[in-house]
Amino acid sequence: MHYLCLSKFINMRLSELKTGEKGVIVKVLGHGGFRKRIVEMGFVKGKTVEVLLNAPLRDPVKYKIMGYEISLRHQEAEMIEVISEEEAKLMQNPYHGALTEDEQLTDEKLAELAKGKRRIINVALVGNPNCGKTSLFNMASGAHEHVGNYSGVTVDAKAGFFSFQGYHFRIIDLPGTYSLSAYSPEEIYVRKHIIEETPDLIINVVDASNLERNLYLTTQLIDMNVKMVMALNMYDELEDSGNRLDHEKLSELIGVPIVPTVGRTGQGIDKLFHVIIESYEGSDFVNKDIRKQVRNEVMDDMEAWHKDVEPEESYASDHGIFRHIHVNHGPVLEKSIEAVKKEIVHNEAIRHKYSTRFLSIKLLENDRDIERFVTALPNGADILAIRDREAKVIMKAMNEDCEQAITDAKYGFISGALKETFTVSQLEREQTTRVIDSIVTHRIWGYPIFFLFLYIMFEGTFVLGEYPMMGIEWLVEQIGNLVSHYMPEGPLKDLVIDGIIGGVGGVIVFLPNILILYFFISFLEDSGYMARAAFIMDKIMHRMGLHGKSFIPLIMGFGCNVPAIMASRMIEDRKCRLITMLVNPLMSCSARLPIYLVLIGAFFPGTASLVLLSIYAIGILLAVLMARLFSRFLVKGDDTPFVMELPPYRVPTVKTIFRHTWEKGAQYLKKMGGIIMIASILIWFLGYYPRGSYETMAEQQEHSYIGQIGKTIEPVIEPLGFDWKLGVGLLSGVGAKELVVSTLGVLYTNEEDIESVNLSDRIPVTPTVALGYMLFVLIYFPCVATLAAIRQESGSWKWALFAAFYTTALAWVVAYAVNVVGNLF
Ligand code: GDP
Ligand code: MG
Repeated sequence: MHYLCLSKFINMRLSELKTGEKGVIVKVLGHGGFRKRIVEMGFVKGKTVEVLLNAPLRDPVKYKIMGYEISLRHQEAEMIEVISEEEAKLMQNPYHGALTEDEQLTDEKLAELAKGKRRIINVALVGNPNCGKTSLFNMASGAHEHVGNYSGVTVDAKAGFFSFQGYHFRIIDLPGTYSLSAYSPEEIYVRKHIIEETPDLIINVVDASNLERNLYLTTQLIDMNVKMVMALNMYDELEDSGNRLDHEKLSELIGVPIVPTVGRTGQGIDKLFHVIIESYEGSDFVNKDIRKQVRNEVMDDMEAWHKDVEPEESYASDHGIFRHIHVNHGPVLEKSIEAVKKEIVHNEAIRHKYSTRFLSIKLLENDRDIERFVTALPNGADILAIRDREAKVIMKAMNEDCEQAITDAKYGFISGALKETFTVSQLEREQTTRVIDSIVTHRIWGYPIFFLFLYIMFEGTFVLGEYPMMGIEWLVEQIGNLVSHYMPEGPLKDLVIDGIIGGVGGVIVFLPNILILYFFISFLEDSGYMARAAFIMDKIMHRMGLHGKSFIPLIMGFGCNVPAIMASRMIEDRKCRLITMLVNPLMSCSARLPIYLVLIGAFFPGTASLVLLSIYAIGILLAVLMARLFSRFLVKGDDTPFVMELPPYRVPTVKTIFRHTWEKGAQYLKKMGGIIMIASILIWFLGYYPRGSYETMAEQQEHSYIGQIGKTIEPVIEPLGFDWKLGVGLLSGVGAKELVVSTLGVLYTNEEDIESVNLSDRIPVTPTVALGYMLFVLIYFPCVATLAAIRQESGSWKWALFAAFYTTALAWVVAYAVNVVGNLF
């Protein structure tokens, strides 16, 4: 609670203090080189700074610190977090908020408060996709973010908060990236976050079972000169594999504290955060180079402060300490890096945010984003000219282009580091992976195996779901009976029984089915099979004008199209991304499942799973067809190649799978209590009024508002064999597809002549019409939430409206075809 009141002021910067004001330094942000320079000048946590002259928009600003006068640029002062006197007064009295005017704020008091404030630490998780960032995030913050065993599940940064050892952490789960170049939106995003948001510390999450590739990103973070701690995650797998890593030695070599962790169990996380605190509090002075350059009084002060931090044990010492190293790129490259850097250094103004070495390396890698940034500098043209010159030198000396040479050099560095610290044993686990892979990604067998999995998934959904479904049905019936027994006759009773219980009850019985479907999807994702499925589908996807990567959003669409469309963000190629989004609604989401279950149960009892599978298959087929059409005629652009990752197989824990399953279930229940309940009541109302004196319920409904609406659209759907009630069902499905069933539930209750509770027995249509109806529901108008997602991800309403239009037209055509063909027999 105290924390909330502190966080209000979290962003007060030295640059915001006005002439004559005083403040105490809380922390210095920015990359290591800058921080070091600032500390050398005496801008140290806990020190009082007085602003001698701060003219708005005028550089530099003059400060007085420890009796010296020092000037800083505005931009530099922006990177120093302070606590102002005014803020300090408020903080002293956080609960009443009133200023105690007469109380004297001594410098000691201010320093004391700054210390308290310093206890807020911003950390960001940076690592490859699938290395366990979200698992660590969840473990540390107690959140329940979804983890998945394929790249790109985390498309947004998520923030979590928690307290540990008297510190308040704000932890950010960033999207997974293999590198920090400017190739994908994630990479740019992560880089931007590090530079713009300046986390106090970065947790570089490294998959210990895949060190070589994971350390590549680490080398780039080292280039950026950011303060970091490495979470050596999946440490259990490293141990199981029999391989050995001397992580203490590695830590020494690369100058980054390393803590082994297991994201799934939380092992090592306490230690990790201890080391983070130590590193955060200590890093300004434990660095021996700084010790030499800093004035004695500054040094004493920092040491005094550090003594205040008393962790239960001292962790940092046995896990290495942060020390900035340079990844050695070899003589040729290093010379060029230096040459470019020398020109960049002339721009004092950028040195607080960027490591000049990082900029130089990125320029040599032809990084577009950095190029754009550099072009805007006064000597931008000179810098680029030198870069071009050096690129030629490198090309000549190494016979490969700069970018490749830098990548090779980095991998060389990594191999070197691993050679000294890593011992390979029999790679037992990897062999298992290879054996399984040779079967499930087989050129021929891969496909039947995949479809077998899908079949099992749907069969399971149907068969296993039946038992709990009967139970819930019974329960709903009992509740209905109870209410009808005790409530007095009248509209209110009709509302409760027909509107609420009929509508909501009709949907809630499908909760078990939906949970089972999610259970299967979670299992396939977490085990690593989904990535294989994507892999074998790659070829087919290419024929559709898509990539293997599109496959995952498409499969996710079986759960819900909304997150699926958001997941398509991970596809680098714009064209492919757009098409993936547009065809995603054809992936039958779980909200459509209830209507299939009702109609299949009633009309195709013998061949239930098969019919269900073919509905899904038709959806897929149409998606293929549409994707081909779109890529041929609608969306312009070329294909770009990319790597497909195959993470090792993992046996997912029961706990995580159940958690994912439950998360979805909870969402479903929420929807039930919200939109579905309201819509059910609305539909009941429209069917109940205006009241007339009719013989039967059916007659009443026909003359009600809803009957009138249904009648209005009847001519359009009549050729499909649908009556007005089915039409009203379709209309309500525009809001959310679950509403189709609940609407039918309301419309078809209380037909006097039919004594059945079971909705499926109450819908009087032929199997052909039922099939057409299911297909119509499958294809037509994506729900409102899906359209909103398409708009958001594609950036324009144009594509959302297009999706709404083409699906509805297609649905009509397909249902019409089914009706015509069906009537031939
Ligand atoms: P992210 O992509 O980096 O966010 O990774 P996730 O947190 O989504 O994890 C990917 C998969 O690895 C999930 O199936 C996790 O259950 C699993 N996982 C995470 N940490 C560990 C770990 O330390 N050991 C093992 N064996 N599996 C882990
Ligand atoms: Mg994640």
